[in-house]
Amino acid sequence: TPRIGVLALQGDVREHLAALDSAGAEAITVRRAAELESVDGIVIPGGESTTMSHLLGVFGLYEPLRARLADGLPAYGSCAGMIMLASNILDTRPDARHLDALDITVRRNAFGRQVESFETDLEIAGVTDEVPMRAVFIRAPWVEKVGDGVEVLAKVPDGPAAGRVVAVRQGQVLATSFHPEVTGDRRVHAYFVDMVRHRRHPAP
Ligand code: GLN
Repeated sequence: TPRIGVLALQGDVREHLAALDSAGAEAITVRRAAELESVDGIVIPGGESTTMSHLLGVFGLYEPLRARLADGLPAYGSCAGMIMLASNILDTRPDARHLDALDITVRRNAFGRQVESFETDLEIAGVTDEVPMRAVFIRAPWVEKVGDGVEVLAKVPDGPAAGRVVAVRQGQVLATSFHPEVTGDRRVHAYFVDMVRHRRHPAP
């Protein structure tokens, strides 16, 4: 059973723990470096990215987490978690730090100009088959640019934000603008648990 940590400084930690648990992982909270050392994968929850960035520093987790990610630790970030994993962030505070594990440019609170929160049915490559997934967006970012090697897994199908990229994967790193942890649908978490199970270790 893969042991997957949920970064537990701020945000919807409990929801991710429950979702991982029902997707077949052993889920633990991560607040210190020793806990981070013990996990096979990490989830960065939704919440508020500038607060999370600040707390990563306070808890002394910023460097250790960056190091494990650089070493290929599988990671999944939802919403604020996507922002934390990104390499470039638009509309954030100048002092906010991020983890630079995913070669994307994200815009914070991007949908907010039209509507703060909304739901839509999404098709997600590799995750949904015939049945789309209900996706909940709460002051969500979108992906404005993807680097080489980043796979686009989902786009908003219609409405004012049609075509916006909201799920991506690059190697061992997965991110969604929306919050699958708040619905009963476990398919994104099951997909991530699978990524952790099949992690390819680089040759020594
Ligand atoms: N708007 C938040 C941020 O910028 C993210 C919102 C969320 O995680 N639901 O961090």
